[in-house]
Amino acid sequence: MTQDQLVQPTNAAAHLSSPTMRTVRLHAAHDLRLHDEALPAQVPGEVRLKVEAVSVCGSDMHYYHEGGIGPAVIRTPMTPGHEFSATVIGGSGEAYGLPDGTLVAVDPAQHCGHCEQCQAGYPNLCPNVRFLGSPGVDGGLAQFINVPPSSLYPVPPGFSPALAALLEPLGVALHALDITKLRPMSGVTVLGAGPIGLMIAQVAKVCGAAQVRVVEPRAARRAQALHLGADSVHEHYSEVLDATGGRGDDYVLEATTSPGAPEHAALIARIGGRITLVGIPDGDHFQMSAANARRKGLIIKMSRRMGHVYPRAIELVRSGRVNIGGVATHHYGMEGAARAFQDAHEAPDGFLKAVIYPNDLLPEHAAASSSAPTPD
Ligand SMILES: [Zn+2]
Ligand SMILES: [Zn+2]
Repeated sequence: MTQDQLVQPTNAAAHLSSPTMRTVRLHAAHDLRLHDEALPAQVPGEVRLKVEAVSVCGSDMHYYHEGGIGPAVIRTPMTPGHEFSATVIGGSGEAYGLPDGTLVAVDPAQHCGHCEQCQAGYPNLCPNVRFLGSPGVDGGLAQFINVPPSSLYPVPPGFSPALAALLEPLGVALHALDITKLRPMSGVTVLGAGPIGLMIAQVAKVCGAAQVRVVEPRAARRAQALHLGADSVHEHYSEVLDATGGRGDDYVLEATTSPGAPEHAALIARIGGRITLVGIPDGDHFQMSAANARRKGLIIKMSRRMGHVYPRAIELVRSGRVNIGGVATHHYGMEGAARAFQDAHEAPDGFLKAVIYPNDLLPEHAAASSSAPTPD
């Protein structure tokens, strides 16, 4: 155990006037440490935020388990966290219409705005993007962070900090449906009922899918998919062929970490169907045999992060058209961050998503749960 890991938890209010804060850093695969660090310097044009909730993403898991995603490798200790919410503090948001205490969702992607892709309306493809919580750019798993106001979205009354954090993965699901160009009253199959798959299934219904099928090997997750509005669930992808009389489905959205899933998507898509690949495969490789996909003339889209989705994501939740709060199954204080990542890695039955509260302001219902370590 390093000196940093021995830092004792103190109450959040004390940290507001303290020159230091607690930060989590991922040093290498499976090496997550809690540090006591200087507060980030106040930068003109940025809003000072007290981080409220950080949800742990599948992409965080790739950094945690593999130390990187493809060429994006952790070389210096990185503060993870790109799904997070925060409150405005220190009067830093006044000039932007964000008074102190405003709860905001933070868009982690800061695109350059002037490259070819940004100009063409594809900021999610900006090669100059600064993405909070990726190698070289610290993310939200710290008590405080400064973020430009253009990345902040105030949430409506009644949104909890965890719900506001979950707008980021909902945005990923929304973007996946945007690029799928779903025709109303067609069939959709979603591969994987993790948090993203569960959100995609719900957004597909909002987009007018006639029938949403979810393929998921875990019984608990299949039950959750049904609970959230999937029309049918299947343990094995081949059941989708049976369910469609051998035709295959119009759209298949893949949201797993399995290198074999794109092949399954191609096998259960109909002739001329569309596949959207959203998941990040373990090991950064996936399989898809050519003949089947080629003969079917499949349209295959790779989904990359998200475009302009926050206002629509907020409205989806506010209007009650989707239910995303239920994916936040496990809650942790800052001392529990390493355990949160390990739990997310092991993902026991009933686990969907870990939420960490850097200032230890856990929701009341979670404070009593076994997953919430109490600071002592
Ligand atoms: Zn994410
Ligand atoms: Zn750009």
